[in-house]
Amino acid sequence: MQFRNKAVVLMFGAMPVLALAASSGPHWGYEGHEGPANWGTMHKDYASCGLGHKQSPINITETKKEKLPAIEFNYQPSALKIVNNGHTVQVNYADGSSIKIGKDSYKLLQFHVHTPSEEQVKGKNYDMVAHFVHKNDAGQLAVVGVLFEKGKDNAALAPVVARLPKTAGPEQAVAGVSIDAAKLLPATRGYYTFEGSLTTPPCSEGVRWMVLKTPVQASAAQLDAIKAIVHHNARPVQALHGRVVKESL
Ligand SMILES: [Zn+2]
Repeated sequence: MQFRNKAVVLMFGAMPVLALAASSGPHWGYEGHEGPANWGTMHKDYASCGLGHKQSPINITETKKEKLPAIEFNYQPSALKIVNNGHTVQVNYADGSSIKIGKDSYKLLQFHVHTPSEEQVKGKNYDMVAHFVHKNDAGQLAVVGVLFEKGKDNAALAPVVARLPKTAGPEQAVAGVSIDAAKLLPATRGYYTFEGSLTTPPCSEGVRWMVLKTPVQASAAQLDAIKAIVHHNARPVQALHGRVVKESL
């Protein structure tokens, strides 16, 4: 996942806390000396990328099946605000959308994409993943991953594909166009869940991850259009270090 919205995520105990400050860390990327293998040693603020034991993404293989609370999605349409931040294309979401898991509520802040998917399921990457980034009142992050496979045209994704910013730059508000995150979700919403981190520097831990088990589809043309902008922007899978992945029944 990516969290880069005029904010830098700092470590405060195990909890990422948001501070309004410009990122001061060095430039990072997905290839060569700026690539994921070097993130942990690029800057002291990125140390978790190399030293953390609860890093994301992961390969989801062994799971512990149990009865988990359903994720209640309360997503509303939002006026389209889209940004190419040089690492991904991100849709910043208007206030008023949230998820609830048991007693825990988190507000939806944004979603963004990675090609291919960062998460693997049984060693397999999907063509794309969308990370829906949420935050609760205590500043803790919860990310819902929706996996995309090649298939039918995805009408809910069309407003994004039609307005992909080709180069990095400021957020663009698209007049008269809205996006409905609810329609990007699969009909069945069983999930895998585990403790993890941001998948981009500073790789802060304390992030609650939920990856929906059922993928959704997008056309080859849609996936190619996104990939042409974001290129390969998936961090490799990270060691579990004893973490258990729970799977809903
Ligand atoms: Zn992400």
